[in-house]
Amino acid sequence: MRRQSPLGLKDGVPGGPAGPGGPQGEGSPERGTDAALADPGGGARIVCRACRHRVTSAGARREVNGAHRHVFFNPGGFVFDLACFAAAPGVSLTGNPSTEFTWFPGYAWRIALCGGCYEHLGWRYQGEGTFFGLIWDRLDEESEPGDRA
Ligand SMILES: [Zn+2]
Repeated sequence: MRRQSPLGLKDGVPGGPAGPGGPQGEGSPERGTDAALADPGGGARIVCRACRHRVTSAGARREVNGAHRHVFFNPGGFVFDLACFAAAPGVSLTGNPSTEFTWFPGYAWRIALCGGCYEHLGWRYQGEGTFFGLIWDRLDEESEPGDRA
């Protein structure tokens, strides 16, 4: 998959509302955590690698700042390979929104835990609309049964 330099912000300059996100989210901050979420977008199941709890679906993938996947370093030097999703009904949010060290300028994050085993799976970002940035190597994609030898 495409990897991005951590300094790759040039491509998706913050501040332009022209990016993905579009006309959504205004006035309904909790949107994206309930409705139609049993199967958001359809497609293969995206599950927690640790416990196989279903987190979201391949069809809920979306791009943020022009890319689905983003590689970031946190202040402790850990590398996170995030995949962005429009919805992730299988996570459980914890903590208060924070903009400290946010990787997506203009977006406040909350911690997203696996709803099955409470492993830290990523973050929910809220700004102009919301999306989930999930840590890809803590997830697994399950093909349809019998799809794979
Ligand atoms: Zn889990």
